[in-house]
Amino acid sequence: IYTLDNDLTLRARAQSAFPTGVYGHQNSASLSPAHPQFFSRAKGCRLWDTDGNEYIDFMCGYGTNLLGYCHEKVDEAARIQQAIADATTGPSPLMVELAEKFNATSAHADWTLFAKNGTDATTICVMAARAQTKRNTILVADGAYHGATIWCTPGQAGITESDRANQITYNFNDVESLKAAVEQAGDDLAAIIVSPFKHDVFVDQEWPTNEFATTMRKLCDDKGAALILDDVRCAFRFSTGSTWETLGVLPDLCAMSKSVANGYSLSVVTGNDRFRQGAGEIYSTGSFWFSSVSFAASLATFDAIESEGAIAKMETAGTLLRNGLDSLAESYGFKLNQTGPVQMPLVLFEDDPMWEKNNYFCAEAAKRGVYYHPWHNMFVCAAHEESDIAEALERTEGAFKALKQQFGEG
Ligand code: PMP
Repeated sequence: IYTLDNDLTLRARAQSAFPTGVYGHQNSASLSPAHPQFFSRAKGCRLWDTDGNEYIDFMCGYGTNLLGYCHEKVDEAARIQQAIADATTGPSPLMVELAEKFNATSAHADWTLFAKNGTDATTICVMAARAQTKRNTILVADGAYHGATIWCTPGQAGITESDRANQITYNFNDVESLKAAVEQAGDDLAAIIVSPFKHDVFVDQEWPTNEFATTMRKLCDDKGAALILDDVRCAFRFSTGSTWETLGVLPDLCAMSKSVANGYSLSVVTGNDRFRQGAGEIYSTGSFWFSSVSFAASLATFDAIESEGAIAKMETAGTLLRNGLDSLAESYGFKLNQTGPVQMPLVLFEDDPMWEKNNYFCAEAAKRGVYYHPWHNMFVCAAHEESDIAEALERTEGAFKALKQQFGEG
């Protein structure tokens, strides 16, 4: 059983070093006390906390780790570029090479823009759609996360009403609510933004129905509005093109980030020619947006995905994890609701409306060296070998045993 002495000391220091401790989505305060806040090392699918405890990690940096932490080929490409030039007065030729790669890889893409964070990319998409259509209204799925700036942050503090103006909500996979929202937007519809599947926190995940995706495409076409795919979280886990290519539905604008440079900071907007002019008119930039190290890392990530069969590996690992968790749960008398694609699983317990069982279970798993999340979708990476999944499941068995002792059977 792990102890977290150094971690607790660092947390205490963080309380005064930052306004209220570690902030944002990596603040572990809402997780169990057994989840460490700080990590000192990462390799492949494993993390080590500041007390030296090892975890088989199923959060993968909230998605940034696709091929494995400290991936040798990606890191080597980044190191080589680092020694040449990174953030300079103008970009390196790699910027053009990488844009051409995205344009060639994504079926909808005629052009590309680069930024740093997912929020930059979704915001650029919204701005480009408004600039192109000369309209204001965007439709957003209720409960969906598109980033942490004034138009989309889930927080309320520091936001004015006008920051959220010109937005109408619809419900994911609910065609009628989508049509009603389009109707309400009237002739002011600039864009509909949607994530590839419903991956909201706390609730079951949902893959889109074909009807939902194709209706959205048609509504956007009829109204001359942009279909914006927020692929920030999913990009490269299903395809190196936009994730809805797997459904045969192409976006007009697509935001990617997280895993596109296997952990190096990069976000990407790709768009079609209908939105080229609008995208060219907006002013959006950043001091570090042209840094070449991330471009080198992303090019190497493309290569490694192909040469290592990364997408198939994640599917295999995710399937093994899902089946293994189901059968472990069953043998201890519990039933899981595992939703969403196996590469990005959300694991909830049945009859657990306040996530009490799941919090307890994830705490017990953390103490045994497996990092699960009780209410956010998790991630597998291509470095989760079959043996790692087997080891994770072995470690997890003790957590089910402890859960049964605490909550009784089922
Ligand atoms: N959209 C989605 C779907 C996301 O998951 C995230 C990040 N969790 C964002 C946008 C924002 O990305 P970032 O945190 O890099 O700004």
